[in-house]
Amino acid sequence: MQSNELKIFNTLSRTKEVFKPVNAPFVGMYVCGPTVYSNVHLGNCRTFISFDVVYRYLMHAGFKVRYVRNITDVGHLTGDVDIGSEDKIGKMARLQKLEPMEIVQQYTNGFHDMMRVFNTLPPSIEPTATGHIVEQVEMVKEIIDNGLAYVQNGSVYLDTQAFIGKYPGVYGKLSGKDQDNLQTETRALKNQSEKKHPSDFAIWVKAPEDHLMHWPSPWSTGFPGWHLECSVMSTKYLGSPFDIHGGGMDLQFPHHENEIAQNFSACGCAPSNYWMHGNMLLMNGKKMSKSDGNSVMPEELFSGDSPLLTKGYSPMAVRFFMLQTHYRSTLDISDGALQAAEKGFKRLMDAYKTLFALKHSDGSINESEEVEITAACDACYTHMNDDFNTPMTLASLFTLVNKINTYKDGGSVVSNISQAALEKLQQTFKEFIEDVLGLKEEASTDDKIVDGLMELIIDIRQESRINKDWSTSDKIRDTLNELEVQLKDGKEGTSWSKL
Ligand SMILES: [Zn+2]
Repeated sequence: MQSNELKIFNTLSRTKEVFKPVNAPFVGMYVCGPTVYSNVHLGNCRTFISFDVVYRYLMHAGFKVRYVRNITDVGHLTGDVDIGSEDKIGKMARLQKLEPMEIVQQYTNGFHDMMRVFNTLPPSIEPTATGHIVEQVEMVKEIIDNGLAYVQNGSVYLDTQAFIGKYPGVYGKLSGKDQDNLQTETRALKNQSEKKHPSDFAIWVKAPEDHLMHWPSPWSTGFPGWHLECSVMSTKYLGSPFDIHGGGMDLQFPHHENEIAQNFSACGCAPSNYWMHGNMLLMNGKKMSKSDGNSVMPEELFSGDSPLLTKGYSPMAVRFFMLQTHYRSTLDISDGALQAAEKGFKRLMDAYKTLFALKHSDGSINESEEVEITAACDACYTHMNDDFNTPMTLASLFTLVNKINTYKDGGSVVSNISQAALEKLQQTFKEFIEDVLGLKEEASTDDKIVDGLMELIIDIRQESRINKDWSTSDKIRDTLNELEVQLKDGKEGTSWSKL
C-alpha cells in the first residue's frame, strides 16, 4: 500500500508533513473525547467521524493502530477549570439528584449509541479521567519536582514563566499565540490572586467543601486540572512521544497548549509528533448557538424535529454530508445542503449495488476507458494520502459512478474493459465506501423487522433451553434449518446468518 506517501497537516508546523510513525507499522493516536454531562453535540460528532476516517484509513494503509479516546468524567468549566467552583457533572448530579457517576454512565451510554449510529469504530482503549487519578497525582509530583509548578493554598499551578525559561519557544507554538495572549481566558477569578502569573494554570485544584467529586492528594483533597488527564492517559497508553494527537480546533488553546506544557514539564519531551485539528460546524452560515435557536442536535437531524429542517435525514446521509467537506474546513449545515447530500449518497450507494451486479464479457478493450477507470481508482489513494482528503476521494468515486451508470444503461454487461479492471473497480468501491469512509447501506424497514423477529426467536430459544423445554427449542432449530438460517452461539450472545 502507498502508506509511505501519506501526508498529514501538522498544526505544530502549519504544513503538510510526510507521516513517519515512531515505530512503524505501529501507530499511536489519541483523540480528546467527550465530557459526559450532556448529550453529544453535532460538532463533536463531526470531530469523531473525522478521526474515525483517519483511524480507518491508517488501518487500511497497513498500520497497526492503537486508538485511544478518553472520556472526561470529572467535569470542568470551559477553559476555567482552574477555579475551584462546581464542575458540570457535579452540577448535573445535584440538579437531577443523581450520583455523579450515574450522570457519567447515562451520557457515556448515549455517546456510544450515537457513535454506533454514525458507524464509527470503537477506539482500542477508552480511558476515563476518574480511573487515572493516581497517575495524574504522580505527574503533578513530577512537575513540582522539576521545579515547574508551585503549591498555593492546596492547589498546584504550572509555572508558565519558569516553563518558558526552561523550554523557550514551546509554549504558544501550537496555538500560534504570543506571550500576551497566552492567559487562559479567565474573567475575574477568585483564584487569580493565587497565581504568580496570569497565564499559570491549575494542575491540581483544592476542592471546595461542597464539591462532589474529589480525591486525596499530598496537597489537598481536590481534583485534577482538566488538561492533566489527557497528558497522563495519552502517554500512559501510547508512550511519549506518540504519533498523532487529535481533537477539535477549539481545543488548541488552552487545552492542547497546556497538555504540551505539562508533558514537557514532567518528562522533558513533547507528547506527540503530529497534531491534527478538526474544524467547526456552522448552521446556515453562522456559529451554532442554542440560545439563538441556530442549533440542531443529532437526534433532531434524524427525526427532522427542528424549525431549521424540512425533514429528517438518515445517519449515513449525514455522515456522507460531513465527509463531503475536508476535516480542516468549516462545514456549513443547512437543510438544502443536507437534501443534496442525501441524493448524492443514494446515487453512490445505488451505483455500488449496480457495480456488483455487472457481468463481464470479453470484447474489444477500450484502452482510454480502462486507463480512466484505473486512474480514478488510484486517485482515491492519492487523495486520502493528501491529508485525508475525503471530498476529493468522493469526487473520484463519483467519476466512477458515472461509468457504472453507463454500463447499467448498456444492459449491465461490461465488455470494453478487462475483467481485471472491473474487479479493481469493484474492490476500490468496496474498500473506500465501506472500510475507509465507513458508509453503509441503510437498513430497510423490512430488514429491521427481520432483525427484530430474529432477536425475539433467539430469546425464546434461550428461555426454552433454560426451562428444558426441548420441544420448543427443537421446533425453532428445525424451522430455521428449513429456512437455511444458521444460529451461532458466541461469547457475545447468539448471532444468525443466512446459509
Ligand atoms: Zn484532551
